[in-house]
This record gives sequence, structure tokens and C-alpha cells, in this order.
Amino acid sequence: MISRRRLVRYLSSLPFLGGWAGANLLTGDASGATAAARAAPDYRNYFQEMGLRPFINAHGTITALSGSRMPPEVQDAWNYATRHYVNLDAIQDKAGERIAKAIGCEYATVTSGAFSAMTLGLAGVMCGMDEEKVRQLPNTDGLKDEVIVLKPPHPVGYVHALKNTGATLIEVETHQELEDAISEKTAMLFVLNAYNGSEIEREELAAIGKERGIPTFNDCAADVPPVENLWKYTDMGYDLVAFSGGKGIRGPQSAGLLLGRRDLIEAARLHAPPRGATIGRGMKVNKEEVLAMMVAVERYVNIDHEAQWGRWESQIQHVADVVEAVPGVETEYYVPDIANHVPSLRITWDPERVKITPSEADAQLKQGHPSIETGGGSEDLSVATWMMRPGEVNIVAQRIHDVLQEATA
Ligand SMILES: *Cc1c(COP(=O)(O)O)cnc(C)c1O
Repeated sequence: MISRRRLVRYLSSLPFLGGWAGANLLTGDASGATAAARAAPDYRNYFQEMGLRPFINAHGTITALSGSRMPPEVQDAWNYATRHYVNLDAIQDKAGERIAKAIGCEYATVTSGAFSAMTLGLAGVMCGMDEEKVRQLPNTDGLKDEVIVLKPPHPVGYVHALKNTGATLIEVETHQELEDAISEKTAMLFVLNAYNGSEIEREELAAIGKERGIPTFNDCAADVPPVENLWKYTDMGYDLVAFSGGKGIRGPQSAGLLLGRRDLIEAARLHAPPRGATIGRGMKVNKEEVLAMMVAVERYVNIDHEAQWGRWESQIQHVADVVEAVPGVETEYYVPDIANHVPSLRITWDPERVKITPSEADAQLKQGHPSIETGGGSEDLSVATWMMRPGEVNIVAQRIHDVLQEATA
């Protein structure tokens, strides 16, 4: 495997090929010569200067691991936006229309993440277009301020986004509990798409909201792929739906989407910058996030998802083949149901033959050269390839093989 640095040097010695061939090899994004031509090599190794170690991401779209990498056309949009001024509300207006059209929902806005989409969306539901109420939050006097949340199977911190408005959350598990919880104070019905531990189906919650005239919200932050999820839940009847920008869609990690009803999204925007006397003033996105998010969505709905899935599967197969060559090592292919719904590999071994714990193996992979982040746990190592560049999968397979091989007596 030719090192990245040597490759950059070699390619930059070729006057014509250097630009685009290099970019394609390094980014692995077959997105056409124009975008790739602008994906310049790294002239400064900023992270190294700072004493940071970049790593190969064999885990997935993890917030603490900096999310995803923006593809070249999204980087282009980001860079373009840095060079110009534009009115912030005007670009949100236009991007909202374009994103809604690409996804096939009524309206959209770019937020500073799925978390802020939850806060702003609920604030919009609570205050409508009343500017006085907007300024009043997080004081909820005189407002409907209870949100009924379908109980997740385990505590999920993200619902804190709803409390930022001053609202109170009521968790329900059964139909009866839901019925009993609905009152004059009910502002919204809410479900975490990936973590519904109640007996109430998502379809039912959307229908109950419609019937009772109570807005419904579905947090789908990490729930593409499949791409269809981008429109599935607004089609199902949810008034508001949130997605993260920097997970599967591969927009900026500092962005997210609030999708759904125009009147509610317009109301949500009253709480967002540039307006100041609001609970959402700290949830700023600038022209860069807005434009890059729009371009990321338009790209994502148009890529060949089937071909991409096939590549991920064959990469997983490759990792399985390489690591299974170590005696005592077994692998299992799996795809999580919702959230991080991508081909993944669970690697386990017979501790009598491979004398290392999964946590120790994970630590060795982190500390090695190059550093590799897996979804290491106490029971097994897990790997997903969707956030890797092509070529990195070979390195990861070989490193895991070597770490496990060295541990065999
Ligand atoms: C990641 C995530 C969030 C937060 O999304 P951000 O885009 O990081 O704000 C909220 N809910 C769920 C279920 C998530 O997975």
C-alpha cells in the first residue's frame, strides 16, 4: 500500500494528472473530474501540527469521531459560500424550498443538527407565529408545554433537546398511558424513531396526532440509509421530522434538517438566528452550513444507493475473509435495523486460542499506525466500512488480522 504522503508527492510531480487523478484516489469519490479537480491535496498537515492523530474510521457516523467526511461537491459548496456574503434568511428560504423539493416534503430548514431541529421544532409548535411568546421562552406560562414521548427501551439523552424549550416530558409505554397523558397541556407527541420501546407503532402515533389535532415529531437523526427514510415519515403523517446533517447524508456535522409542515417550520425559524431574543440564538448555522447541507441532500437523493450497498457488502466480505484466516476467529455479517443501517461485521474469537480481549485489541488498533477506530466493545470488535475511503478497508482488514494473529500463542 503506497502511503498517502508518497502518493501525493508522486501525483503532484505529474503536471496534468496530479489534480484529478490524485483526488479520485485519495477521496474515493467518483464524482466527476470537475469537483475532484478542486479537491486539492493537503498543503498543510494541520492536525499533525496540532499533535492530533487522524484515524481511519471503521466505526461509523459517530459524533465524537467528527461524524462523516463531506464529499467533494459538498466541500465545493462550503468553500464557495466562504467567499461570498448573502442574506441569512434569504438563503434559508431558498434552501428550504430546494431541500423540500429534493425530499418531497412540504418544507424544510437547515438547523445546527438534529438536536436543535428538535428544540426549534417544538418551540415553533408551542409559540406559533406569536413573537411575544417567542421572547417568553423558556418560561412556558400560558403555553401548552407538555410533550408526550414514546418511552425508549433505555434512556436516550437526546430528548433533552425538548426540555430546552421549558417543556415537560411525559413518557408513555402503553395505549392507555398515552390516552391518559393527553390533555389541554399537550403540545406535541414525540418518538425517537430508532428507539421506540412502547407498544404504540409509529404509524399509530402519527394518526393519533392527526385525529386529536396535536402536532407529531419523529427524530430520525441517524436513520439514512435507506434514502427512502428521508420522506417516509412525513409521508406517514408526521408534522415534523429531524435528521442529522453529518451522519449518512454526509453534509456538515454542524448541520441538520427540520422537515415537514410549512407553518410549523416558519414558526420554528422565529426562534433561530439571526433573531436574537430567542432560546435558539446559540443554534447558529451560517451560509456555509445551509448551502453545503442543501447540496449534500441533492447529492444524496441522486447517488446510486444500490451500487453503494454492493460496495459496502464486498468490503465487509473482504474484512471477514482476511481476519478469518487467523485460527479461532469468527465473523458475523449484520445490518442494524434502524440507525447505522449498513453492512457491518462482528468479529469474535476463541479466547483460548487468541489471547487478547476485545478491548485490548481495540486499544492496539487505536494506538497503531495508522490509528484505527472500530466499534470495539467488551464482547467483540465491530467494523463498518461506509465511512472509509477505498483502500482503507485493506489496511483495516490487515491490521485486525495482525493484532489477532500476534495474540495467538
Ligand atoms: C445523532 C442523534 C441526535 C443528535 O443529532 P445532531 O445532528 O448531532 O444534533 C439526535 N437523535 C438521535 C437519535 C441521534 O442519533
